[in-house]
Amino acid sequence: MKKLFSLTFMVVLLLLAACSGNAAGIPQTGSTATAPVAATAANPVVVPTAALTASASSPAPAATTGGAGAISCAAPAPVTTSLTEGPYWKSGSPERSSLLDAGVTGTKLVLTGYVLTTDCQPVAHALLDFWQADAQGQYDNSGYTLRGHQYTDASGRYTLETIIPGLYPGRTEHIHVKVQAPNGPVLTTQLFFPGVSQNQSDGIFDQSLVLPLEKSADGYTAAFNFVVNGQ
Ligand code: FE
Repeated sequence: MKKLFSLTFMVVLLLLAACSGNAAGIPQTGSTATAPVAATAANPVVVPTAALTASASSPAPAATTGGAGAISCAAPAPVTTSLTEGPYWKSGSPERSSLLDAGVTGTKLVLTGYVLTTDCQPVAHALLDFWQADAQGQYDNSGYTLRGHQYTDASGRYTLETIIPGLYPGRTEHIHVKVQAPNGPVLTTQLFFPGVSQNQSDGIFDQSLVLPLEKSADGYTAAFNFVVNGQ
């Protein structure tokens, strides 16, 4: 009798175990619940944004920028196109990120971006030296109006406050810049503006150097990253 009771008890236990199964949510060794989930249309795998904007082989650049400030770069990134310096560069420009001296008039432009290596790594303390014509197309060749140099911050970022330059004979609107990583060569180039009819007749114009202007409350903003050799 005692043996029969024990047997019945074991059968009841076995039945209970069979009924509970995984539906009870009890973790089990080797359970498929811990296996990687395959991507399907109904269950897509979400890739972090940082992995889409930086090369897979390099760490994600400073994540402090976020949103519109995110670095868009795919390694190996082509070095920014070099263009002629022209006749008006002057050494010794003041160090500053705003060229908006008193007396400078025109449409305000805030230019931001990064200096990057060809493997999409931000370059800290890279030099950027900007110079440009005023809204009437005139360069200041006796002083330093609309001229200034600065260095990228620890995250490789720069900001320039200036105005949209005017046209001068033979040229479309452009801003000159020299960019140099701390241990790299100087890259000299020019930045252009979208929708300027003279772009088509300017022999120096390059489409890859057109700023993506966005209207702001008091002018325009644009984001532009420079890719340089060296680091
Ligand atoms: Fe020029």
